[in-house]
Amino acid sequence: MSVTEAAEIRTNCAYCGVGCGIVAETPAIDAEVIAVSGDSLHPANLGRLCSKGSALGETVHHENRLLYSMLNGNRVTWDAALTDVVSRLQSTIEQYGPQSVALYGSGQLLTEDYYVANKLMKGFVGSANIDTNSRLCMASTVAGHKRAFGTDTVPGCYEDLELADCLVLVGSNMAWCHPVLFQRIRAVKQARGDRMKIIVIDLRRTDTCDIADLFLPIKPGTDSVLFNGLLIWLLEQEKVDHAYINQYTSGFYRTLELARVTSPTVHAVSEKCGLEPEAVENFYRWFAENDRSVTAWSQGVNQSSAGTDKVNAIINCHSSYAQD
Ligand code: SF4
Repeated sequence: MSVTEAAEIRTNCAYCGVGCGIVAETPAIDAEVIAVSGDSLHPANLGRLCSKGSALGETVHHENRLLYSMLNGNRVTWDAALTDVVSRLQSTIEQYGPQSVALYGSGQLLTEDYYVANKLMKGFVGSANIDTNSRLCMASTVAGHKRAFGTDTVPGCYEDLELADCLVLVGSNMAWCHPVLFQRIRAVKQARGDRMKIIVIDLRRTDTCDIADLFLPIKPGTDSVLFNGLLIWLLEQEKVDHAYINQYTSGFYRTLELARVTSPTVHAVSEKCGLEPEAVENFYRWFAENDRSVTAWSQGVNQSSAGTDKVNAIINCHSSYAQD
């Protein structure tokens, strides 16, 4: 982009899913220096930026950045580059059929871009060979939400995490992967102290544990056992909303039967998950005692051969919980 006058552009950082708003300022004609700051009006970050977002300005004119279409090492026009791509695709499809080509996109594609890419492959080329890394990251959560609610809509927002009295982070190193959201939660935790309980469930003690009241270093693959145990605990503590369950859900009592098989007691859960029984009981007690519990999970749950079941084990606890 050639900037011909000083400009202030409101845009987004695309490095992670927090989606922080940024203000990019170009101070002079064709300025080399672009100053980047957090957008105080943006609801995701309210002016904050992490180190990755703060360094965005340095990437704009970086010497290694690909600024032009290149063909065989030579700069060419967009028309020439696209013509080459089209002719290669066409000849491959003519020779081997539409199933011989594939398109792999990025989770950073915007909805509109994603739509157009799908239209190109499925509607025009006639091949379903299109995917993005969004599937790797989020497919388990999408399938879990569809199985639970019939739609892959996540019923939560950032403010919910700040307002929670009990916040459970599962398979999520938020301090590194979603830094500004982590900053928001850390600020609330510092202000509220013991009135906000934070539980981190992860294989590794990550920097996210810095704000945790309880760290559960769970054995790999046992997340469903832990949350099935929580479901049983909620039932025993009479924290299950039977009226809601009978009116609006199906399969709950079968789910309980299965949960009793994997997770009959706190002791059984602690043995299978490799955790201290007191630690498991603390987690269960805090979850049951607090009407405002929020669980947030990340790729530690999603990227698993049983990711969808883990997601549903978590959702089952929240959707059957009886508020006082
Ligand atoms: S948390 Fe950091 S990397 Fe993620 S969107 Fe915000 S500034 Fe970008």
